[in-house]
Amino acid sequence: MSAFHIAIITVGKVDDEELRLTTVRVARLLRAPLEIRGRLPVPQAAHDTERGQFRAAELMKSARSMAPQLGSGALVGADGVLDDKPPLKTDGYIFVSDVDLFTANTDGVFAALISKAGLAVTSVRRLRESFYRRSADLNKQRSRLVKEMARMGARLRGAKECSQPACVLAASKHLADLDLKEEKFCRDCSLHLFEGTVRI
Ligand SMILES: [Zn+2]
Repeated sequence: MSAFHIAIITVGKVDDEELRLTTVRVARLLRAPLEIRGRLPVPQAAHDTERGQFRAAELMKSARSMAPQLGSGALVGADGVLDDKPPLKTDGYIFVSDVDLFTANTDGVFAALISKAGLAVTSVRRLRESFYRRSADLNKQRSRLVKEMARMGARLRGAKECSQPACVLAASKHLADLDLKEEKFCRDCSLHLFEGTVRI
């Protein structure tokens, strides 16, 4: 499983240092380095002018089509930036954006996935306290992003949604679901992800 290579690409405005600090924690959780590849502009084709939000699937597909214009990035492991070059083959993409995302039948989402295409997106917009008109809490915001990026990374690797509320792979429909989670996978998900075994 460790050969599954994921590239992280910023779409829009996300603080570089913040993304690096977050990615270190995601790499620790996924037990694999991730590549931070650079930044793309927000694809306006994904904008829904009536809602003032962005269609998640379209944003992912547009960003994926623009991805080749970025050169290779920096490999980030659990202890920081690594000297190794990232692998040439990319198995999955996690786009990290700051725009408000929605999917069919939702008001808005924290993250979305097209697993068969190897595409995932998450936005910091609804992870920030300011979205809920509360004062900023950087630690909370960062932890939420770690959990959503790790959830997307695990899903790209083929993991399923988990029924344990404290597990990173549990559904995160509401902010409360996300805040309830710990920054780790439950035992069953860990076994499945890292040992390749399924407990019956
Ligand atoms: Zn689990």
